[in-house]
Amino acid sequence: MTSIREAYDTMGWGTAPESAATAQAWLDKHGKRFGHYVGGEWVSRDGGEGFATINPATSVELARVAQASPEEVDAAVKAARAAQPAWQALGGHGRARWLYAIAREIQRNSRLFSVIETLDNGKPIRESRDIDIPLVARHFYHHAGWAQLMETELAGYGPVGVVGQIIPWNFPLLMLAWKIAPALAMGNTVVLKPAEYTSLTALLFADICHGLGLPPGVVNIITGDGKTGAALVGHPDVDKIAFTGSTEVGRIIRIATAGSGKKLSLELGGKSPFIVFEDADLDSVVEGVVDAIWFNQGQVCCAGSRILAQESIAPRLIEKLRARMETLRVGSPLDKSVDIGAIVAPVQLETIQGLVQKGIDEGATCWQPSWSLPKDGLFYPPTLFTDVTPAATIAQVEIFGPVVVLMTFRTPAESVEIANNTRYGLAASVWSENLNTALDIAPQLKAGTVWVNCTNMFDAASGFGGYRESGYGREGGREGLWEYVKHLGRDERVARSEVEQSAKGGVLLAPRSSQLPGLPPIDRTPKLYIGGRQVRPDGGYALPVLDAAGNQIASVGRGNRKDIRNAVEAAHQALEKWAGSTAHTRAQVLYYFAENLAAREQEFSERLGRLTGRAAAEKSREVAISIERAFTYAAWADKYDGRVHATPFRNVTLAMNEPIGVLGLVAPEQAPLAGFLSLVLPAVAMGNTVVAVPSERWPLLATDLYQVFDTSDLPGGVINIVTGTRKELAPVLAAHDDVDGIWFYGPREEAAEIEKLSAGNMKRTAVSWKDVDWADPHEGQGETFLREATQVKNIWVPYGA
Ligand code: ADP
Repeated sequence: MTSIREAYDTMGWGTAPESAATAQAWLDKHGKRFGHYVGGEWVSRDGGEGFATINPATSVELARVAQASPEEVDAAVKAARAAQPAWQALGGHGRARWLYAIAREIQRNSRLFSVIETLDNGKPIRESRDIDIPLVARHFYHHAGWAQLMETELAGYGPVGVVGQIIPWNFPLLMLAWKIAPALAMGNTVVLKPAEYTSLTALLFADICHGLGLPPGVVNIITGDGKTGAALVGHPDVDKIAFTGSTEVGRIIRIATAGSGKKLSLELGGKSPFIVFEDADLDSVVEGVVDAIWFNQGQVCCAGSRILAQESIAPRLIEKLRARMETLRVGSPLDKSVDIGAIVAPVQLETIQGLVQKGIDEGATCWQPSWSLPKDGLFYPPTLFTDVTPAATIAQVEIFGPVVVLMTFRTPAESVEIANNTRYGLAASVWSENLNTALDIAPQLKAGTVWVNCTNMFDAASGFGGYRESGYGREGGREGLWEYVKHLGRDERVARSEVEQSAKGGVLLAPRSSQLPGLPPIDRTPKLYIGGRQVRPDGGYALPVLDAAGNQIASVGRGNRKDIRNAVEAAHQALEKWAGSTAHTRAQVLYYFAENLAAREQEFSERLGRLTGRAAAEKSREVAISIERAFTYAAWADKYDGRVHATPFRNVTLAMNEPIGVLGLVAPEQAPLAGFLSLVLPAVAMGNTVVAVPSERWPLLATDLYQVFDTSDLPGGVINIVTGTRKELAPVLAAHDDVDGIWFYGPREEAAEIEKLSAGNMKRTAVSWKDVDWADPHEGQGETFLREATQVKNIWVPYGA
């Protein structure tokens, strides 16, 4: 009889194939023949030269793709040029709405994108589904934020104009996102050429832009090989080229654009060191190597392809690596339990085979697992070379496949010397359980990214790019934006602000928002909003709400001390999770809120008019400002970064912004919607939870928001609303020991009382008795609010030799 242990050890893996049916249906819809997407239309679908795009796992043709001629490149550049002024004039908020709509649409189609990416490129579905596509959506969300903030954060800068973008095949859609999101955010229009092996997700992207109704010419996708790329690079009316690919082609492009005035960013090859010190956690190191070199079949420009292991632990590491390699699975990329998929194209496979042979010929020891590869398709096993000298070809040349070399070193200084012994400088990772060692080595490495005890980490908030022959320019984060803007001269600044003024309310071009059910009827009696639920006020009393003519149109709950206590408790319960959620998650909730509020713009505006008796223009302006404010703080959520202080010792000091905790917010009487949200949104964007007391006179605007919050994935307890009289409620909040900060907008005598009461637990206060113009983007929003919503923690970290 077999024991459970034996059964477990000998258990085989079944296959878990992902269905390709929806992807096939999409290909069929296009007749398996694609043209270019230019000026908002599909062109050259049937005419012209074309080529097949192949599934590398099966060698089966997926579709035929067109080869753009110089004339077609010219047409695409013209379309982009024609679309650029209006795209720029749409303003930051308008573009933010578009990028947000694209992000949402990518998420809605995420599985289709993943499957097509896997079919076309050969990467495991696990990676396209869990890494590539989520990062793509994240990139568009993040840059929706930069569009929103451009006018204040990059004041004095404008778009470059028309951008030509050329990308490789290893992360087809992700590289597209890295290129298109920042370019569009900054007001540029683009002509993008995907790599010839992997055009399909770029074409699907064009399809979804089309479906959303993106203004024609803003995004143009042309397909073709290097000849098309060269025509785009050489086009006289392109203002900037952004390229990711090989160092060889990067060099050609640098020379081709020399003296043309074109701005240029290049993200090129690498041979990144992966340095393992003797005090590293070797089991983590082994998993790190799997991520470093067997992720995406090793076809990663920043792949950790040179393991440098400290001599004392090298034999143990090699043994552990070989054992782990035995358990890796190579096979059909659509199989959800496969680790390594197919190599993108036959020529790439031949290059890998050739370089491995060269390694053997030069005397290194080659090791591959004992299992055999699938018979059909372009597969290559994980490969480990030992006994490699630093000058060997396989230690110097980028192999771009699942092949890693291992060399040894004795001292930290020697590790740095070998690590830097390369013409590249894209990335590096350092493994040591000793922080001093890791942070002593990191600044000495010549690389644009250094990962400590991790590898191949990417995010839209952090710049990525190279040193030396790995290229220049950064993609992602604030530093990535500089690639897509130029400093405006004085005249341009004036002209631009005039264009923007006239384009305000560019809602015309803004995307359609989803339809949601209407507002509750006007005669409802809203309750309080505590812990994500509507609850009756403890006291059982209500307050009348009058319209502009003095008629009672509703009543709201009159909250008391007990209700505030319950709300504070709910806020506390929600705090840990909300403060601990990622900034990206908080941003998404706020964008979703903006979207849902926008869907009800009309009703909110009518409600405001009826209550306040304001004129049409004024009331709709308040609602528009409120929606825009949600976009602003969604944008800030993952961008109100800390800083790194250069303290004059052997260290750096990380200044991190942290939330304060539970904030009590007493909203201004005027601007019942915009004023209320101008306090609530920055507070929650920074990770605080709140108990808010809305305008006493016009609380219905706040209570109408309950349902908007409920449909926006806002966790219960993050925003709690207690209606009632300010004089009764505000002092309770101010005196409450579990409230960490209070913002108060009301009369001066009351403000003084609030500040006095706050002394009990020394809560932070921000009070104002002045009339604030909530519509003013400088007065009603911005860093003042973000600063009040955060406290800075300085972490001193050793750094440098
Ligand atoms: P890889 O080695 O990753 O295949 P390449 O640098 O060959 O990278 O290709 C990256 C991208 O550059 C592809 O989209 C390819 O079509 C394009 N390309 C190749 N040659 C040229 C060229 N001379 N000018 C512009 N683009 C080119």
